[in-house]
Amino acid sequence: MKIKALVMHEKNGPYCMEDVELDEPKDNEVLVRNVASGICHTDEFGRSQGVPIALPLVLGHEGAGIVERVGANVDDLKPGDHVGITYAFDGTCPACQAHEPYYCENFNQINFGGVATDGTTRLHQDGHDVSMFFGQSSFATYSVANAASV
Ligand SMILES: [Zn+2]
Repeated sequence: MKIKALVMHEKNGPYCMEDVELDEPKDNEVLVRNVASGICHTDEFGRSQGVPIALPLVLGHEGAGIVERVGANVDDLKPGDHVGITYAFDGTCPACQAHEPYYCENFNQINFGGVATDGTTRLHQDGHDVSMFFGQSSFATYSVANAASV
């Protein structure tokens, strides 16, 4: 689906409001219509490429909104739910299995790697991939995120 997002095209560059293509949620994911998003130094860290993330990139990691659609395997969220979106985690490493996802052994790769937990991005523009941030890229009208992070 076509959405509006704040796209970052260059290190320390401006946030450019542009059309972006957002994939449908996969089986374990949720589509959220963002109503608000926080902004903090971690977004600035991404904007300044404190960790190199492939450009273009859509930042934003504190999304809040309303669930629009859920993937086939999501049974604890439904359209209309009011939600916040937090960081991404793999759910499978020893830390996640111990119910400490904030210590996820793949935290940096998943949240700063530009892709979702399956290694692909949900964002595209003009036929090219656009990097995600924290598994949500909430500086956009819509986000697709793992249900476990919503
Ligand atoms: Zn983990």
